[in-house]
Amino acid sequence: MTKALFTTSWDDGHPLDLRLAELLSKHGFGATFYVPVRNPGGHCTPGGLTVMSPAELRALGQAFEIGSHTLEHAFLPELDDAAARRQVAEGKAELEAQLGSAVGGFCYPGGVFTDAHVQMVREAGFRHARTIVNLRGARPADAYRLPTTLQFYPHQRSVYLKNYLKFGDWPGRAPLFLDAIGHAALPARLEAMLDHVCATDGVFHLWGHSWEVDAMGGWPILERFLEYAADRIPSAQRLSNGALVSALAPA
Ligand SMILES: [Zn+2]
Repeated sequence: MTKALFTTSWDDGHPLDLRLAELLSKHGFGATFYVPVRNPGGHCTPGGLTVMSPAELRALGQAFEIGSHTLEHAFLPELDDAAARRQVAEGKAELEAQLGSAVGGFCYPGGVFTDAHVQMVREAGFRHARTIVNLRGARPADAYRLPTTLQFYPHQRSVYLKNYLKFGDWPGRAPLFLDAIGHAALPARLEAMLDHVCATDGVFHLWGHSWEVDAMGGWPILERFLEYAADRIPSAQRLSNGALVSALAPA
């Protein structure tokens, strides 16, 4: 049996996260949901997006890890340092007040950040932070720059080529890059990438947005992939992002 670890994360705190949570629970998967306190909109979602109510968040937090996604889904490099620090720190404090419990995980909106933002995230008391670096299946080296394996979205091959070139570590990411461009359909792509991670005892990190799964009619594809993964990954190796970081921390 593989020693690979499997984690999932879901961004933006849309109420459809509750449907996603049900599906993940049904198949025994852990997850981290990264939630902004408000999502007034920006580059990807000009009109803004609804965020779960405090009661919905508390219900979700019973079974899953809730992480922060800043106060207002802020793209940190577009702000001055004081405003960025406020988005990081107040996003954590307000979410903790809503949940009534500590929040240890953070995710950079839009995947954009600088070394100074990593430092702000550390200083705010977060224990890990997730990026949108993809095509990674090795155990992560830096808890404040957690990479992912694949976004649950049927991207064109040209997007993977662009991502591959942009995020570096080309030798390390080559096998999963080849899997991604070698399979045109999302289900076959996901399965090939998971097979690789299982064979190398690595880490598979699936991420996405519940509203996007819904918009693309992706629920059946996601469920079939979770069944495929459940057949291969023992349940003790299906973790939230925070539990993954703890599992990999030196004793
Ligand atoms: Zn986001």
